[in-house]
Amino acid sequence: MTLSDRILMGPGPCNPYPEATEALTRPMLGHLDPDFIALLDETNERLREVFATRNALTFPVSGTGSAGMEAAIVNFVGPGDTVVVAVNGVFGGRMVDIVERSGATAVAVDHEWGQPVDVERVLAAHDSPAMYAMVHAETSTGVESDVAAMGAAKGDALLLVDCVTSLGGVELRVDDWSVDIAYSGTQKCLGVAPGLAPMTVSERALERLNPRPRSWYLDLNMIRDYVTGDGARAYHHTAPISMITSLHAGLGAVLDEGLDVVRRRHRAAGDAVKSGMEKLGFELFAAEGHRLAPLSSISIPDGRLGSRSEAEVRSRLLVDFGVEIGGGLGPVAGKVWRIGTMGHTARLRNVTTLLGALDEIVG
Ligand code: PLP
Repeated sequence: MTLSDRILMGPGPCNPYPEATEALTRPMLGHLDPDFIALLDETNERLREVFATRNALTFPVSGTGSAGMEAAIVNFVGPGDTVVVAVNGVFGGRMVDIVERSGATAVAVDHEWGQPVDVERVLAAHDSPAMYAMVHAETSTGVESDVAAMGAAKGDALLLVDCVTSLGGVELRVDDWSVDIAYSGTQKCLGVAPGLAPMTVSERALERLNPRPRSWYLDLNMIRDYVTGDGARAYHHTAPISMITSLHAGLGAVLDEGLDVVRRRHRAAGDAVKSGMEKLGFELFAAEGHRLAPLSSISIPDGRLGSRSEAEVRSRLLVDFGVEIGGGLGPVAGKVWRIGTMGHTARLRNVTTLLGALDEIVG
């Protein structure tokens, strides 16, 4: 099969909800068309539902999850501020980098990979930080951390939470857990193509908004007029209309199915991956009791793949069976697989295909 055959014929291994894909093919509205503005307003309302928040400033940032991360940091801290960042994988490390680029001081609290965020250690790292930052669902390790505990203990600091791999897939209650700023990505449990970063900001955080953040494109002082539309919608940049239309449809699919039902589907698929992989002789990497449903991290015991390299096995899964799994990142590259069951793909039939294919290759 040629590359163009694969692109044109599908089905590819990454399948958004059919509703989200169909929305991309609709005739396009203009970005200031009143009907598009109404669709944006409804998208934001749907996002409030999945974030479990009443925050007025809830909207999709134009850019992938990393743009959400950057917006969430540069708008609220800068030179003179200290940010305590819990680092238990790649994405906590990325936050540290952005905090430093913003001019603020980052205090990184490093954790062993595979372990959840240790709230007591994070709190002990500094007396009066401007912000605590953590990742709810570390995609690099398959670990879920306790956001509610951090929210209850944050004191006067702002709490920033990366929800890229949790939004729509595991329980998340922004208001109840006292999260001030949260961002996500469309391509994970929301089951939409990559390209937007849903974000929500509390009133408490807005009171501390930088008047002139170290970014023009992501400056919320300007974007908020377009998003919340108090009076006239002021143009800031051209909204990615098709992506927002697709997100609107994907969120509709999730809410029609029911958030709780969708989360249970993620849990069932994640559990099936974990138990199936253990039966095939693999081991679970993430600490017990903190294992993430949408992303199962799997250790590959020495010798389990025979003469094949782990990259070779992943390649055969993709090319011969249309199943894509992720390799390890950072210190666990080559030792850990990351198996995502997210959004539309979080279904037992996909898990059965993966386990059967793997058995065929290295059984
Ligand atoms: N944070 C987490 C937890 C992620 O898993 C990712 C991407 O996988 C990101 C941030 C960055 O998102 P993106 O790759 O969409 O920019």
